[in-house]
Amino acid sequence: MNAKNIILPMLIATALSGAVWAAGGGAIVKSDPSKHFDAKGKMPSKYTVDLQNALRKSLPFEDERDFEEAKKGFIAAPDYKQIMAEAGHVAWDIGSYDWLLDGKDFDSIHPSLQRQAILNMSYGLYEVIPGIYQVRGYDLANITFIKSDTGWIVFDPLTAKETAAAALKFINEKLGERPVVAVVYSHSHADHFGGVRGVADEEDVKSGKVKIIAPSGFMDHAVSENVYAGNAMNRRMFMQYGVLLPRGPFGHVDQSIGKNTAAGNLGLIPPNVIIKDDIEELTVDGVKMVFQNTPGTEAPSEMNTYFPDLKAFWAAENITGTIHNIYTLRGALVRDALEWSKQINHALYLFGQEAEVMFASHSWPRWGNDRVQEVMRSQRDTYANLNNGVLHLANQGVTINQIHNVYEVPQSLQQQWSARSYHGSVEHNSRAVVNRYLGYWDGNPTTLIPLSPEDSAGLYVEMMGGAKPIIVKGKMLYDEGKYRHAQEILNKLVYAEPDNLEAKNLLADVFEQIGYQQESPSVRNSFLAAAYELRNGIPSGASPKSSGPDMIKAMTTELWLDFLGIRLDSKKADGKSFKINLVTPDNNEEFVVELSNGTLTNIMGYQAKDADLTISINRTDLEQTMMGAVSFDEQIKSGKAKLKGDKKPYDELKSMLVHFDLGFEILPGTGAKDLTPEENPFQQEELGDTSGG
Ligand SMILES: [Zn+2]
Repeated sequence: MNAKNIILPMLIATALSGAVWAAGGGAIVKSDPSKHFDAKGKMPSKYTVDLQNALRKSLPFEDERDFEEAKKGFIAAPDYKQIMAEAGHVAWDIGSYDWLLDGKDFDSIHPSLQRQAILNMSYGLYEVIPGIYQVRGYDLANITFIKSDTGWIVFDPLTAKETAAAALKFINEKLGERPVVAVVYSHSHADHFGGVRGVADEEDVKSGKVKIIAPSGFMDHAVSENVYAGNAMNRRMFMQYGVLLPRGPFGHVDQSIGKNTAAGNLGLIPPNVIIKDDIEELTVDGVKMVFQNTPGTEAPSEMNTYFPDLKAFWAAENITGTIHNIYTLRGALVRDALEWSKQINHALYLFGQEAEVMFASHSWPRWGNDRVQEVMRSQRDTYANLNNGVLHLANQGVTINQIHNVYEVPQSLQQQWSARSYHGSVEHNSRAVVNRYLGYWDGNPTTLIPLSPEDSAGLYVEMMGGAKPIIVKGKMLYDEGKYRHAQEILNKLVYAEPDNLEAKNLLADVFEQIGYQQESPSVRNSFLAAAYELRNGIPSGASPKSSGPDMIKAMTTELWLDFLGIRLDSKKADGKSFKINLVTPDNNEEFVVELSNGTLTNIMGYQAKDADLTISINRTDLEQTMMGAVSFDEQIKSGKAKLKGDKKPYDELKSMLVHFDLGFEILPGTGAKDLTPEENPFQQEELGDTSGG
């Protein structure tokens, strides 16, 4: 299977709920770990090797408790490493990372990241304590099974139906067949609910036979986070998740909260039990659970759970084996580090005083109250220090363009593995805190309305004496290991001369060394992906075509209309105006959609008396159009959409909507193109064996 065939289902799966959460990454392409996958790729330089060697000495590698905890309670691993998707491709392949287990130190990987990447290789069924089990290494997240009186309560059913079903089958084989009586969604990110159809039947949820329990605000946030800027987020996923990078020491290594995301069937069954109070107790099939809503932390809708009879604390995704993203590089609203810290503190005082085990939706559990409290404190303090330390500096004049070079995590935290920043780097998280409180402007008018990079670059290049001296100096800086200096000037040249291959290749070499040196896989992937794109571009045809029906059902009509407003070509619309009444009788909703001043707006709950056109269509039919399965013209033809009044506004609107394409360029020349086999590394080294599962 070629790259397109594997990238496509991943992006389709993530199209709406996008990325986010996790998403997408890593075409399942095996590469020889001793060789660079790209003919233009470079080995780690002397400076990179020296840095990695110094890190091997300065980081607390003698503390091996994480490895003991990651192995503890192991019951069995399955006899397969791949899980197939219903669509026929490989949805999951933990074996594509087996080269990490050869006991070799790779100089192209930050030693701390390599350590985390090995910890995330846990694969199979584990006992947390008698009655609580996890299947790990089947997807980006863990799936957790709580033994209830008559069955299983499943916490967080992974991203894909296929991987969740495989995990349920495996635990039933090993521990005896039990029915799923309840599912808990810990939060609104798709790696925690997308596989629900692999463990539960929607009819059983509707009848109440199976409970699906979710935190307050879950349905509002499950989809909405990723609609308005969805296409841009999907494109940026190529960076954060290294979607095009083959798996290997020079490419994709890990995703910090797990290896990668499964590329299977993503679904969503709406919950039938919502936890509304800050703290709420519920007993399900004999299992007593205390829920703690933690909105505004890792997700806008999230909750921890305590099992008082078992002295077991479920930390959702609030406490895992990494410091998380305050700012997610694929693009998202900036999160609140202080609130996050406070919610961990609340859990520490509510449950952490007596908890004997802490387990979560990613990473491995921690046993013993001392250890539970140690990890809770290290993460509480890291988020609080990030917030307070950054604002401490900002209040003394350090700006968003300096903070990442100034703010330092306290030494005491730097020496604790549970406080290391794999998912969110210290650099991009510290900039995020400034952005949250002060925004992107540093107070210098030069940066307030700056020229666009492509407009300023020519002036710099001219004043620096043209391309030649920049290349000479760029090479010199590269040879001295001054990579961030080199990127500063080479970036200008690439923008001024997008066709200058020497400049692009040299900038790619610079990005690559910076990438090798990063502890955070999100940052590493972004640099390595940019190097890849400068050298090769991205293949065309990787555009998501449609979104799954469950995700569309979860999208409100208002949100969809808002998105039409974003798709509107305002220049074409300027000077035109109309009012359309939209009615969806089966759910009793009505809207006025107005075009005026080149802008499309909508309001729910109103009808305009002087509307030019009234459109009536059942919401269930409209969903077919929302997911791209049936065009609106066809809905009219089949009589499912009824138009009353002047049809002209409908035709006008249709002609003014733009389809977003994923293949836009980020750096000059990195837009989608049809690659020849020679240009496309996927064509040469692909995973031949698609059996298993
Ligand atoms: Zn997650």
